[in-house]
This record gives sequence, structure tokens and C-alpha cells, in this order.
Amino acid sequence: MKKIFLLTTLIACIKTFSQTPLQKFEFVNFSQVNITDNFWKPKIDKVATVTMKACIYQTEIKTPRIRNFEKVARNKGEKFEGLYYDDSDVYKALEAMAYALKTHPDPALEAKADEWIDKVAAAQLPDGYLDTYFTLRDINQRWTVIDAHEDYNAGHLIEAAVAYYNVTGKRKLLDVAIRLANHIDSTFRLGNKNWFSGHEEIELALVKLFRVTNDDRYLKLADWYLQQRGKGGIYNYEGKWATPAYWQDIKPVKDQTEITGHAVRAMYLYTGAADVAALTGDNGYMNAMQKVWEDVVYRNMYITGGIGSAGDNEGFTKDYDLPNEDAYCETCASVGMVLWNQRMCQLTGDSKYIDVLERSLYNGALDGLSLSGDHFFYDNVLASNGQHQRREWFGTACCPANVARLVTSVGNYIYGKSSDGIWVNLFVASNTTIKIGNTDVAVKMETNYPWDGKVKLTIDPKKKASFKLYLRLPEWSKETASPGNLYYPLGAPANGESNFAHPPITVNGHNAQYKIENGYAVIERNWQKDDKIGVIFDMTPKAIVARKDIKMDADRIALQRGPLIYCVETADNKEGVWNLILPSNTSFTATDYKVLDEPVIALQAELPSAKANENGDGIQIGKRKVTAIPYYCWANRGANDMQVWMPTKIKEVKINYSSKYEDGGNY
Ligand SMILES: [Zn+2]
Repeated sequence: MKKIFLLTTLIACIKTFSQTPLQKFEFVNFSQVNITDNFWKPKIDKVATVTMKACIYQTEIKTPRIRNFEKVARNKGEKFEGLYYDDSDVYKALEAMAYALKTHPDPALEAKADEWIDKVAAAQLPDGYLDTYFTLRDINQRWTVIDAHEDYNAGHLIEAAVAYYNVTGKRKLLDVAIRLANHIDSTFRLGNKNWFSGHEEIELALVKLFRVTNDDRYLKLADWYLQQRGKGGIYNYEGKWATPAYWQDIKPVKDQTEITGHAVRAMYLYTGAADVAALTGDNGYMNAMQKVWEDVVYRNMYITGGIGSAGDNEGFTKDYDLPNEDAYCETCASVGMVLWNQRMCQLTGDSKYIDVLERSLYNGALDGLSLSGDHFFYDNVLASNGQHQRREWFGTACCPANVARLVTSVGNYIYGKSSDGIWVNLFVASNTTIKIGNTDVAVKMETNYPWDGKVKLTIDPKKKASFKLYLRLPEWSKETASPGNLYYPLGAPANGESNFAHPPITVNGHNAQYKIENGYAVIERNWQKDDKIGVIFDMTPKAIVARKDIKMDADRIALQRGPLIYCVETADNKEGVWNLILPSNTSFTATDYKVLDEPVIALQAELPSAKANENGDGIQIGKRKVTAIPYYCWANRGANDMQVWMPTKIKEVKINYSSKYEDGGNY
């Protein structure tokens, strides 16, 4: 009896923590986290209702995405409509629907998802293949063009299937995904056929399939996909961007040191590599990704956490090339930054990855979704003459459902658990229960973050338990530069060191002893019922400067408060956002403000500004009140000028400036 008990306990421990040598802790799944705050909760509700409705309308009525599946099932020789990767938008919307159903149960939404799943299943061929483009056009051409996104589509199908199964317990889509994954595995890995994924995605999806089925052929297939890169020369694709750099193929993944090419592909690749490393304990992937990560974050990341500055390759150019008005910063790339940095933090236990995750989440990614929930940005610029406006949809519609699935599952990034403790990564009012050893520990977080730096945690174990609490000390709360000194608060030490005094943390009202480990405050004690932890992060607005290598930001300042980057927009500044001068000693006042219905903290100051005389014979320097709003809120009130980086010196004056306010972009 005793032996059986020990064995079951051991198995339970493995299942609870599933730690590998490379995994320091595991994030708590969003389905176990109840978000109660005034920031994310309304957004999650809006995505579940408004955004999902928009995605369904666009996918099913306005565009032919669902109709392609129906045509395959009818088998009457009808033509494919749209773009060859359109199936993926159906799957990504299904994944977002699954997450929405968890936090916002809705029988009508579930019925719609089931209806789509029936249509998807009916389009699968007997051998497991599923891709409406090749099935309708010419099935003999399948698996012949490496950039035809067949495995990209498959990856999103697998992710949707795992999500829907986890939330509803329904297997139909999961069985479709398993048949497709088996088809791919038999054709390539087991079939020993040369292949290469032009658009990475399937690697991370196969790891999810492995986790849900426990069948290691999917983990092996994910690793096989990773190992196909860097062999060179198996492209049968003549596209303009068919270069090794474009699809992260210059070297094998384990030898890579630099970020190249298409930003979204890169993010999905490294997320998948981190997932495989976590499960296989393969240090080769980890060592390579740490170097690639430094190349991204030290030299190629916008202050908004956006990446991929160029539109023509949807990706990276050369180091420090970060133009503001022409920034590409695809929403999906910021979503990818969130995914990859979550995995990197899980592997290393280093909070610098959450600092980057938070930067991308609250700025570059969230900017992709309108406050109304039904308009989207594909590219997220940092300055505009009003030509950038949110749209209802795009020809290439990867971004809307991507930001939808991110927001609905944002609970994935808050808490973590390890065998020795509980990790608090993001500050979001919420509650969860985490099992430490045999003890259930209820955790409650109260905060008005990101508007207020006051965070209160209640740790409530069922019975007294000794463990560590890892509380992240965010980068923005310190007088320190971002990694690589890319961005730093004005006046911070230029050598990247910090003169920051860590905030006092209290336990039950008394100052607590804590150690700092990898950016976390670690409090170890014998926790008991209703223990309360308090910390107040300093939310004084900061003037941020960029290192001089970023020429576009020279003699400019950006404003940051907490995790939020700010911008000035004409909607709040009727005299315009150009011709301002921001002296470096300006202090801004934080004020309660509203952008449409969104309650925010705005930053206000009296600033010098240049203005032309009415007859044009001179320029006057006056002063006017300027209001800056959180960057994610801009472009919700019509066509407006906007800029994030404001000049400290006047170098040019825009006279009689009038914007065209054309709806730009050609997706
Ligand atoms: Zn996208």
C-alpha cells in the first residue's frame, strides 16, 4: 500500500510541475486564472463579444474563407477563392473562440464553432491532408512549394484543435488535427523526404499536440522541423524573398546568433525551439536563442516592443534601423514576442524576458486592437501624418484573430509555479489556486495596474506551508536601461548599471526580508492563512531616450509611465502634434482622462511650440498645454497625426501643414 502511495505521489508531482532540467517554472494556464481587473477584464469581454462577431462575419460572410471548406466537401470542381493561407484565419478565429468560451461561456458562439469544425472536418481528405487551396486547385501540387503555407495552416489548425479540446472536451477537431499531423509525419519524417517549412508555426503547435496526446511522435516531428533549417538549398520557390535570411535558414537553429528576415516567422520558430528545448533538455537551442534574443532586444526592437521595421520583407533590416513613421511592427510579430519571451522566462527564470513580454503586450500588440474591438492595425507605426487608420479587416488577415486569441488568453502570463514556489510575473487583479506540494494555495492579487503601482497579494494556503514567492520587480520601476542599453531613462547611468533602490515589500504590514534572484524579489517563509504582501512600484512618468545608434530617435524623448509608452495625438492636441519642443527637464502631470470610453491616465505639461505668423513672415515660439495618451489608445477617434518620440530641439517646422488622411496600406 505504502509503495503504491509513494508511486502515485511521485506521478502526481511530475504531473503537477512537469519540470525538466531546462524549465525553471511553468506558467499557470489562463483557464485557471480568474481576471477581475478594470483593464484586461473589459477587453477580454469585448473580444469575446464584439471582436469574435467581427471575425465571424469577415471569415464567413464577407470573405470566402469558410466557403472554401464547403467547396471541398461538395467536391463539384468549384474554384478556390482568396489567398493560399486563408485557412489559417479560420483556425486562429476558432482558437480565439475556444479561449473566449472559457472566460465568457456563450452557447451561440459554441454552436458557431461546432458548425465551423464540422465544415473543416468535412474538407479533410481520407489520407489526413487538409488544405483547401491545393485540394481545390490541384491536389497533385500539394507539398511541392515550401512557402505555400501548408504546414503553417496545419500549425494553426492544431493550435485551435488543442484549445477547443481543452476548453470544451470535444474531440472532433482534435481528431482532425491528429490525422493531419500523422499524415505530415508519415510523409516527411518517417517518409524520409526532404522538406522545409517556409512559414514556421507548426513546430510550437506540434509541441501542444504532444502535450495533449502524450504521443512523442509529435515532439519528434517538431524537433525534425527545427533540424531541417540551415541545410541550405531545398527551396523550390522563386519568390522575391526566397533567401536563407528571410526564413531563418542561414544556419542550423542551434548555430544561429542573429535575427534575420520575416519577424513573425522568426518569433514562431524560436517559440517552437524553446518549447522543444524545455521538453527535451536540449541546451543547443537554448544557447542559440539567448544570442538571437540579445540581437533582437539590444539592437532591433522598438520602444513599444514592436519588431520588424520594414514592410517589404515584413521583417528585420540592419541593426538600429528603427524608423518611426514607416515602422512596420506587425501586430502578429508583437504577439510572437509575447509567446517567445514567455517561453524564455519559463526556461531561465529570468525576469528580463517578462520585461520584454510586458512591453510588447501593453504597447505593440495591444495597439493592434481598437478600443471598440472591431477595428485593427496590421502595422503599428510610431509616428503618423494621419494616413494610418485602423481597418475592419485585411486581405491578409493574420493580425485580427491573433490579437483576439492573445487578449482572451492573457491570463497565461500572470502566475507561475515551480516545485519550490509561486511566481508573480504580471500585475493584473486576479485570483487563482496553485498547488505547492500537497497544499492548495489560493492567490489573490488586487491592483489598479497599469494605472497604479500599488499591488496587494493575499497568499492563502489550505494549511501552513513553506515555499518561496517570486515577485517580479519590473524593469520600468528601476532607474535602469532596457537590456543592451537600447532605451534608458534620462539621467540613468549610461553604463547600464542601476542606482535604483528596490521598493520595500511588506508581509502583513512589516518590511519583509527578500533576496533578488534574476530580477525577482524572492520571499521565503512559512506561509499561513491570509498572509498579505504589499508593494508599491513608482509610477512617476519617465522621459526615455534611445541610444545614439538609433538615428531616427536622436534628440528625442519618449514618455513612459509604468509599462505604458505614451504618444501625442491631434485628437487631444487641437493645435497639432508637430512643432513641439520637449525640454529634457519637463515634468509631466499624471491626470485621470478618457479616450472614448477607456479610462486612462494622461500625461500633461506646458511645452514650447513653434507657430507661423498668419501672414507667414515669421515664426513665434509660444507655450501650450500638451496631452499625451497611452500609445495603445491612439487612432480611435478618426484620422489624426501622432508621434511617440518628441523632439528636444527644434530642427524643422511644419507650416500650414495639412494631412491627406488617406487610408494607407495595400494588404
Ligand atoms: Zn499579422
